[in-house]
Amino acid sequence: MSDCIFCKIVDKEIPADIVFEDDQVVAFKDRNPIAPVHILIISKKHILSVREATKEDTLLMGRLIMTAKKISDDLKISKKGYKLLIRVGKGGGQEVDHIHLHLLGGARLSENIHPI
Ligand code: 5GP
Ligand code: ZN
Repeated sequence: MSDCIFCKIVDKEIPADIVFEDDQVVAFKDRNPIAPVHILIISKKHILSVREATKEDTLLMGRLIMTAKKISDDLKISKKGYKLLIRVGKGGGQEVDHIHLHLLGGARLSENIHPI
């Protein structure tokens, strides 16, 4: 989708600090990190959010998590522990309408999920 910022990162139309890429996913550093390690793992396929994912996307959804696992091992943050976060829709705080999994780690992370 041409006006989607994450599709533009997939297509290399805008730069990103890419840490991993294969035929189905791309992982890159979040531009506003909220943890020492903050990576976004996205599908190359444009899917708005988990809400819009279909049964055909089941393996791809698993791929996002397994990519996070691989990156956490590569970056040696997995022993300490980390957080995986997917926001869904405005109420979930999602700002970019292209499915993405946040990998947050490198420190002990607090819980701060409050209704606003
Ligand atoms: P959301 O709130 O949708 O779950 O998270 C969107 C995330 O994307 C935010 O953490 C934001 O910092 C990040 N982000 C938005 N635009 C860009 C961009 O152009 N490049 C990078 N690297 N991160 C972005
Ligand atoms: Zn997109």
